[in-house]
Amino acid sequence: MTKKVRVRYAPSPTGFLHIGGARTALFNYLYAKHHDGTFIVRIEDTDVERNVEGGEASQLDNLRWLGIIPEESIDIGGPYAPYRQMERLSLYKVRGEKLLANGQVYKCFCSTERLQQSREEQKERGVAAPHYDGTCRALTQHQIQEKEAAGEAYTLRMRVPEGTYRFHDLVRGNVAFESKDIGDWVIMKTNGIPTYNFAVALDDYDMDITHVFRGEEHLSNTPKQLMVFEAFGWTPPQYGHMTLIVNEERKKLSKRDETIVQFVSQYRELGFLPEAMFNFFALLGWSPEGEQELLSKEALIEQFDVRRLSKSVSMFDQKKLMWMNNQYIKRLSVDALVELVLPHLQKANVVPVWANEEQLAWVKELALLYQEQLTYGAEIVVLTKHYFEERVNYEEEAQAWLEASETTAIAAALTTALQQATPNSSADWEQLIKTVQQRTGLKGKALFMPIRILLTGQTHGPELPLVMKLLGKELLVKRLAQFSKVNI
Ligand code: GLU
Repeated sequence: MTKKVRVRYAPSPTGFLHIGGARTALFNYLYAKHHDGTFIVRIEDTDVERNVEGGEASQLDNLRWLGIIPEESIDIGGPYAPYRQMERLSLYKVRGEKLLANGQVYKCFCSTERLQQSREEQKERGVAAPHYDGTCRALTQHQIQEKEAAGEAYTLRMRVPEGTYRFHDLVRGNVAFESKDIGDWVIMKTNGIPTYNFAVALDDYDMDITHVFRGEEHLSNTPKQLMVFEAFGWTPPQYGHMTLIVNEERKKLSKRDETIVQFVSQYRELGFLPEAMFNFFALLGWSPEGEQELLSKEALIEQFDVRRLSKSVSMFDQKKLMWMNNQYIKRLSVDALVELVLPHLQKANVVPVWANEEQLAWVKELALLYQEQLTYGAEIVVLTKHYFEERVNYEEEAQAWLEASETTAIAAALTTALQQATPNSSADWEQLIKTVQQRTGLKGKALFMPIRILLTGQTHGPELPLVMKLLGKELLVKRLAQFSKVNI
């Protein structure tokens, strides 16, 4: 009988949910869901000094926002609890002691300074990957007792067997590592806290993990984890190491790279849609069989196939993300659209936090007017800035039009028409434009462009009658007066 698929995303709370982490979580999630398996989130918090406040919450909260929802985790519990490594210390301790009793690990009393010195000596000799020199490997029982009696602290080191570690990586195919290049490594630190490679292997075993998808940076850790499985005679999970995410210059993403927004919470704050992000992350290192790239969560779950995981680097293409988000925004219902843009307008202080019904109806119309072009929620503030300013800021391209005598004639006709009418519906506003057309004899672009520039300062925008309706008579009159003053 094949085992039920169980996969995990195991972030260290040393930072907030990053795009790389989100991609890892997502691929594990898709794999689990595709195989009717279980997706769990486990917190690997043993690097105590590097843990950051709020890191854990950011991971869980933003995953949930993305729709990557675990069946087991620290906040919802589950049959394999606890899901936080610092709460599992006794489990690691027992296993460490077992390996020690069998002689598969040994006590190492070398000080940090000694180890540092040995590493430097090896480097000087030209050793590419320096490793432990084996000093404590052959300590006698008597020597060990003496050191312990003297209160010397020790770590536990794996007595790495000679040989080659091979495994079939689900992304890269067959991979091999020589154990002599690894050296005896620490499984338990002097403070009794396990190292990452020891704890992760034990947890994967204890939690019945069947498959592990993670970033390429963990590839060289895999042989160490295989050693732990081997030491206990257990069957390891299957591993798949996903390729790097690179920036547009094809350079490995570094946390300091400012050309890319890197944290999921930042996208959330900017008003990206979780469904779009989910879709976008799924294509970072994986591709569907067909041409269609806009895929719902359900479609992605159905189509997810590890054989289509990419072997080459995945470029984080922000333009594509913008495009994709816009595609999802275009499909939003009016209510969802308002929900997306309203907080941004309120944060920008252009719509009151306690907006009344009339104001909300106005926001609704405004949002609908910009739905087609909106790429993310916060962009509404930039796109609609001119609705909230009294004065027009004329664009560079508008200058030539402003100097034309026809524009002065249109401004005059428009002012008169506005004084004589009280337009309400967009049909009324259309009528008003027609009046100006009749009075000036201008039509088409020669008519619309100056009107748009006079009223908004811009050469492009949504349909003019709708824009005018939202700007309202009062503001339009002021803006026309602004133009006339300049042109007297
Ligand atoms: N805690 C590790 C990390 O955040 C996870 C490694 C793994 O998935 O095995 O990178």
